[in-house]
Amino acid sequence: MQAEEYNRRGKELVDYITQYLGSIRERRVIPDVKPGYMRELLPDAAPTEPEDWESIFNDIEKVIMPGVVHWQSPHMHAYYPSLTSWPSMLGDMLADAINCVGFTWASSPACTELEMNVMDWLCKALGLPSFFLHHHPDSRGGGILQSTVSESTLVALLAARKDKILQLRAELNQDVDDSILNARLVAYASDQLCATLGTTGVCAFDKLSELGPACAEEGLWLHVDAAYAGSAYFCPELRWSLEGIEFADSFVFNPSKWMMVHFDCTAFWVKDKYKLQQTFNVDPVYLRHENSQAATDFMHWQIPLSRRFRSLKLWFAMRSFGLKNLQAHIRNVNVTELSLYHPIKELELSLSVFTEGKMC
Ligand SMILES: *Cc1c(COP(=O)(O)O)cnc(C)c1O
Repeated sequence: MQAEEYNRRGKELVDYITQYLGSIRERRVIPDVKPGYMRELLPDAAPTEPEDWESIFNDIEKVIMPGVVHWQSPHMHAYYPSLTSWPSMLGDMLADAINCVGFTWASSPACTELEMNVMDWLCKALGLPSFFLHHHPDSRGGGILQSTVSESTLVALLAARKDKILQLRAELNQDVDDSILNARLVAYASDQLCATLGTTGVCAFDKLSELGPACAEEGLWLHVDAAYAGSAYFCPELRWSLEGIEFADSFVFNPSKWMMVHFDCTAFWVKDKYKLQQTFNVDPVYLRHENSQAATDFMHWQIPLSRRFRSLKLWFAMRSFGLKNLQAHIRNVNVTELSLYHPIKELELSLSVFTEGKMC
């Protein structure tokens, strides 16, 4: 495929997507296929000769769509919301083209800096504590985009463990193997994993104002999972369940659920970034750069080395909607303005147990 064809086919694909999302309510949400359905629709091996785009494109409706669950459909009520929006999709279109690998600041400064700024925007917009901000005189913390809440929770757990091992080592003042100290550590969790604001099943809330002081007294890392419900905190009147958030060492939520920034996009904040960095630090000579000291290198904040330019779609979405419309979306106010941004005009899928009043 050459540039000219990409340009033409790209526009056609955007047409197809607009048509798909615009008429999605006419499709059956759950596909009527059996495991292995695709086997007979595809050849056994990849083609030796190149195929033209026309035949590839035609297979979308023949091979793919029959096996798709239409998560964006207003008739979709399974699992949890996983919404997209026009500006969010445009963000990934650009990110895919730039296709930078932003492990260090130097590997693509805009990738790191936009993420830091947008994470600060998001932190403020949700009414989270200022110790989670990158740019704040008293803050040692910051936010980062991760791929999933599950991964962020593992990251928090590993950082808490590292911190505790270093503490124990300092207290014992002798050389003990990590594995010995590790064996003494305990993680407290319920059957929902960790402290949760809005469980997936019934949107139940842990009381941070009770858990927090207990964790502080015992020197425990408090990780808070607001994966699904976190978007609600755009609305100040729903922030009562954030009471006690000042005790949290880390907080995570999924803009990819209710906020209309499509998967993957998980916002994760820590109170003390140095505790992340001491856990995930990687320092091979080929990744050092002249601004290593002054700049943030997100590779030290996560499990993978590589990272994509996820903040673009968040930036596009936050600017296109404005906080006003994000709040309206949560409140499920029937603003016609919203339909400008979201493929589904009637946001009745707006899912939430919040709007049904079960939250109280
Ligand atoms: C959806 C959800 C998760 C899992 O999120 P992933 O990003 O898929 O890992 C965890 N906790 C809660 C409360 C959720 O709603």
